[in-house]
Amino acid sequence: MIAYLNGRFLPIEEACVPVLDRGFIFGDGIYELLPVYSRRPFRLNEHLKRFDSNLASIRIGNPYSAEKWRELIAEMIERNHLEDQSIYIQVTRGVAKRDHAFPKNVSPTVLILSNPLVTPAQEQVQKGVSAITALDDRWLRCDIKAISLLANVLLRQQAIDVGAAETILFRDGYLTEGAASNVFVVRDGVMLAPPKSHLMLPGITYDVVLELAAAQGLEHAVRGVSEHEVRSAQELWMTSSTREVLPITALDDKAVGGGTPGPVFWQMYGWYQEYKAKVMRA
Ligand code: PMP
Repeated sequence: MIAYLNGRFLPIEEACVPVLDRGFIFGDGIYELLPVYSRRPFRLNEHLKRFDSNLASIRIGNPYSAEKWRELIAEMIERNHLEDQSIYIQVTRGVAKRDHAFPKNVSPTVLILSNPLVTPAQEQVQKGVSAITALDDRWLRCDIKAISLLANVLLRQQAIDVGAAETILFRDGYLTEGAASNVFVVRDGVMLAPPKSHLMLPGITYDVVLELAAAQGLEHAVRGVSEHEVRSAQELWMTSSTREVLPITALDDKAVGGGTPGPVFWQMYGWYQEYKAKVMRA
């Protein structure tokens, strides 16, 4: 695998950063992960826009223009030979003597990685996955895609430990999101999604699903979804760039709806795959 670090493309084994990088010391940085299908980045502009506004929100100047990011990502795709890739980009505040205060005159550290894109196996889509629930004990800026992901890591691991795929989070009795995904709920044929706020990451896939629902005339509402509504839903889905739209068919060991992916899921899944195919052909 070829990585990009601070202006150079090099084998990943040779890509090294100093221990005083603030990403290593403080988790002081922002990342973005975008899927590449048939060598085409999916929703690139949206990812770059989110990345730019996240950097601004933690007061790191974006080191590159959108044009330069697009060029670098195109070159990464070119240099790593897979058709489908997951491109990871990360910018940290840079290398400086350990001190909470922002360092002066320091350049941000820029890293781009490519990995094989692993989307859910067909069997997983057909059967759905299981999830557990937990209290959302993260900080109050979950809208920022910060590299400091300790809380998300611990919450996701709770699911892994019991053989589940995701941990669904509730704060003050309301659904926020998954440890590494957004969550959609279907009740009485209506698709429900929690509104964007500081308490969840505004997912790119979340936006795609809402756009598809609107375009296809699927009845839906963006509003607070209570824990009770999640627990008694007919369908639950998780969405993310790598998991796309994936049905959750068991929650805390209890079947969701009939315990198999529901009809609204299959509609959305079809629209999503069609949309992807259209984008790839464009
Ligand atoms: N929420 C969290 C906490 C996530 O980590 C992710 C995936 N990075 C998402 C939601 C989904 O975002 P996206 O659709 O942009 O991948």
